[in-house]
Amino acid sequence: MTTTEGLDEIESLVDVERIQRHIDAFAALTETDVEGDGVTRLAYTPLERRAHALFRDHMAGLGLQVRTDAAGNTMAESDGTSAASAHGTTSVAALGTGSHLDSVPSGGRFDGIAGVVASMEIAEIVSTTGLRHRRPWRFVAFAAEEGARFGQACNGSRMVAGLTSAIDAEQLFDASGISMGDAMRSVGLHPERIGADRWAPEDWSAFIELHIEQGVVLEDRQVNVGVVDAISGSTRLAIRVDGRASHTGGTPMHLRRDALVTASRCVLACDELARDPAHHGTRVTVGRLTVHPGSITTIPGRVDFTVDVRDIDSDRQRRTAEALIARFRSIADTARTEVSFELMGDTSPVVLPHWLVAEIGVAAADLGEMHQVLPSGASHDSQQIAHLLATGMIFVPSRDGLSHVPEEHTTAEQLAGGTRTLLRALRRLDGRP
Ligand SMILES: [Zn+2]
Repeated sequence: MTTTEGLDEIESLVDVERIQRHIDAFAALTETDVEGDGVTRLAYTPLERRAHALFRDHMAGLGLQVRTDAAGNTMAESDGTSAASAHGTTSVAALGTGSHLDSVPSGGRFDGIAGVVASMEIAEIVSTTGLRHRRPWRFVAFAAEEGARFGQACNGSRMVAGLTSAIDAEQLFDASGISMGDAMRSVGLHPERIGADRWAPEDWSAFIELHIEQGVVLEDRQVNVGVVDAISGSTRLAIRVDGRASHTGGTPMHLRRDALVTASRCVLACDELARDPAHHGTRVTVGRLTVHPGSITTIPGRVDFTVDVRDIDSDRQRRTAEALIARFRSIADTARTEVSFELMGDTSPVVLPHWLVAEIGVAAADLGEMHQVLPSGASHDSQQIAHLLATGMIFVPSRDGLSHVPEEHTTAEQLAGGTRTLLRALRRLDGRP
């Protein structure tokens, strides 16, 4: 049996107001001296640690065992009945759920937080009702998911999945030149010990992350629950264009080697290639561009920009990145400028296990909740965890599809709908052999 008798409708205990209070409490933890509205709580900063402390205190207050690992991930565990009844000798593989607590600069209140709050709500229901579950249930707040600070996304989940080493942490830097390793040490973490905190796949049965969609599919269909079947990969490039800086008045047009003109043509080439019908499903973005020396009266001598290529087809993702570099080189040649590049990050797309997609769909149907199966364009901690164990994802709607901006919004009712489906899915999985 997976459920406590008489608690078949335990999902109805999911509390909309409690969810809203948790969302508000995390949103209050934001840098106050940055430009723009929204939430700024970057990876491996004291504020991110305060958010983890909030999660830890809530879970510890419910009587769960809580631990923060060397990478800064915080995990709370509710014991399964199976281990206790077998004199502690039988270990049953655990179920997990969770998401991340860091944000991009001037981001929203829901990206990552939605899944952490769902896990806090489920832990509260489990703890206050004494809901019996056979397997250990683990509630996880991952560290440093956003790539905004160090260029690489999903750092905490990569570390537990064994996909990033302590050496990598010393080789990633933020815009002020601080290495990820130093940032981790400055908030009391231990990059040199991350190897010891890797998750053992045999210790886990399945993991489900709830997350906001960050797109418009669910809103368009007026459906509150999305079940993700695949997660896009992402190839990130740092591109540098070198031309020659000189006086804007003194240099005739035919003698210019303007790095920004080359970079602009490269940006247009990205857009053009991604819109080509042969690339249907590919998404290419130039999200950061810096012009040097940045003077009104000096022709730009150097431009740095980033390119982010996303796809759910791993071959096409890499072919697109290669094709873009070839195009950039030929554009640079014709303008007598030079282009060089560095690979900042490369993550493969993943297809999530079909049986788990089906289980989550049945969980939603059990509760009379309409759902839609869809791919994820954004990368997630689940993508890393999927390398180790069976992993699924539940999406809740994003108003107007907006994310990574202060306008990001999901109603507490929509979050509650996703949380109920997540709880039902965990109960279903708990009973699987
Ligand atoms: Zn996220």
